[in-house]
Amino acid sequence: SRRKHFAKAVETAHALGHRAIVVVEEPSWEGEYVDEVYTAPTGDLRATVARCVEISQLEPEPIAGVIAFVEHSVPTAAAVAAELGLPSISVDTAEKSRDKLSMRQAFEKVGISQPRFALASTVEEALEAAESVAYPLVMKPIIGGGSMFVRRVDTPEELAEHFEDIREGAWAGFDYDPLFILKSKYSEGILLEEFLPGNEISVESYVQDGVTTVVAVHDKPTPMDGPFFEETFYATPTVLAGATLAKVEEYTALAHQGLDIAQGATHTEFRVAPSGEPYILETGARLGGGPVYQSVLLSTGVDMVEVLTKVALGEVADVSVDPARVRHVGFSLHFGEQPGELAAVEGIDTLEDRDDVAEVMIYGKVGDQIDVPPRVWQAQGHVLFTGDSREEIVRKQREVNETLRFRVR
Ligand code: ADP
Ligand code: CA
Ligand code: CA
Ligand code: CA
Ligand code: CA
Ligand code: CA
Repeated sequence: SRRKHFAKAVETAHALGHRAIVVVEEPSWEGEYVDEVYTAPTGDLRATVARCVEISQLEPEPIAGVIAFVEHSVPTAAAVAAELGLPSISVDTAEKSRDKLSMRQAFEKVGISQPRFALASTVEEALEAAESVAYPLVMKPIIGGGSMFVRRVDTPEELAEHFEDIREGAWAGFDYDPLFILKSKYSEGILLEEFLPGNEISVESYVQDGVTTVVAVHDKPTPMDGPFFEETFYATPTVLAGATLAKVEEYTALAHQGLDIAQGATHTEFRVAPSGEPYILETGARLGGGPVYQSVLLSTGVDMVEVLTKVALGEVADVSVDPARVRHVGFSLHFGEQPGELAAVEGIDTLEDRDDVAEVMIYGKVGDQIDVPPRVWQAQGHVLFTGDSREEIVRKQREVNETLRFRVR
């Protein structure tokens, strides 16, 4: 999917009269689509910024806009944009958008409904904090993604049993990340949150000069009650309407205000309580990952990469969605059924032959080692499909699940 992102960003930049360059930390990039590939030092924000200033002078025209597509590059892109005086969020905002504790504090200031939360770095602290957060609760990394190491616990016994695993997992294996410094700031702790029951949604929006436009809302129609929270099914447009949907839009704009996001695209997640009140989970200062980009495009006709590229270049994005023309779209994400070596993927041809299947994407290949939730970074593949109603999308998701099989040995 990332290839599609790049291709569209390059196309948009070209259409607006710019060259498109990519700055990578490792020279593994093949240089497709772009006009030039530069390398920058790994894991050193200041050195990367200095290198980009140099690149801006090497290019025939100074750099006119900066985009990051992966979450861990968001602070770096913000730092480069800040140095070059380009439309962007600040580095501070970029960091907050990845630091779930600072984010919660920012949301608290602007008064968005959210779960009670606490930081805990030892099991004793966690048991103590749990008394005010209350059970059931969710333990999760402060910096994370893909629901990795996010776990629901219902009792002090369960908390004590799983706390150390989550805490260790939370800080393991991403020392390449500039935000790894938060490990000591937070005493290697994790976040405890009140478990929010209710349906989960994600909101794709963009902000230009402080004005928020919500482009699409996806429901996650499969109940996600834990203990693990891998995402398996998205469907858009949302079934939410009226006051609840208005509240979702209001809180999305408020989240941008709280985090000081005045330019760029965002991906915001909520859980909607049985009362209809949305509670915010998090806001990513980036496009929605995986097939979300294509799902939005198929459903609304809005190309979020084009929008993001325009915003980054200071060009008016000016998007409007005609509700009468929105199509029903869904996608399923597929995980391994048990850990092991991938022996075969069945059902691809059957699915690809269907007119209502827009894309079948398998990320890995036979022979790969497959892991299962909750220790997975991402799914093994996805299927994107269209329908005439939500009921049809739900039915098709079941059919897709029965057809596509990852055989493991
Ligand atoms: P990540 O950055 O890994 O996506 P999130 O905070 O979004 O982390 O958590 C991942 C998933 O875990 C959410 O999509 C949601 O399903 C579940 N989850 C997280 N926090 C809560 C909570 N407080 N109440 C209920 N579910 C939660
Ligand atoms: Ca010139
Ligand atoms: Ca996230
Ligand atoms: Ca998510
Ligand atoms: Ca999330
Ligand atoms: Ca097809």
